[in-house]
Amino acid sequence: MDEKIGEMIDDLKSYLGYLKEIGIRSLPASEIDAHEPRLSHVMTLEEVRKELGDCKRCKLHRARRSIVFGEGNERSCLMVIGEGPGYDEDVQGRPFVGKAGQLLTKILQSINLSREGVYITNVVKCRPPQNRNPEPDEIQSCHPFLVKQITVIQPKVICALGTFSAQTLLKTDTKITTLRGKLFDLDGITVIPTYHPAFLLRNPERKREVWEDMKKIAELIKTR
Ligand code: URA
Repeated sequence: MDEKIGEMIDDLKSYLGYLKEIGIRSLPASEIDAHEPRLSHVMTLEEVRKELGDCKRCKLHRARRSIVFGEGNERSCLMVIGEGPGYDEDVQGRPFVGKAGQLLTKILQSINLSREGVYITNVVKCRPPQNRNPEPDEIQSCHPFLVKQITVIQPKVICALGTFSAQTLLKTDTKITTLRGKLFDLDGITVIPTYHPAFLLRNPERKREVWEDMKKIAELIKTR
């Protein structure tokens, strides 16, 4: 009984810590080392970016300002994959720099990871007009580049943010509510789908579930 209460207190403590992070507070004292040396790469990210070029493979190129390729630590054991750039990302040419991005930063901080320590990208690299959902042909055009990014980085874990990321990576139509929190194997990489930060901004009561997923990610990358 005492042990159970102790466990509950521990769990509550970590959850309160998470809320503190989400509620815009201080930075964590230390960071989990998400860096891991790699022996060899088939390509470099720079080469993948070069191959993408001034991409006009799909209709998204017409209205975009920037190609938002991705950024972060090429040697990270964690890759975070979102849906596609929004307005701020299109303007700045960087992934997850708007409101959803700020929340993502705090979510990462809650498990002692920094944005810079992980690699962040999206399923489509150009902003869908009016932030509409990416269409199947657009996702398909971009997919070889996402696959190449994954192949170069060889992460241990991929955190798939939201429906389009999870469904694209796992090649499924299953709803994110069903996929979320489960672990999937993608050629030796563990994929954990979770809710998109933009969804959390609209539904803050779902943050608890993301916290559960982040704890799993922290555990997985710790035991690399
Ligand atoms: N939402 C995404 O899915 N990706 C971004 O880069 C920004 C918002």
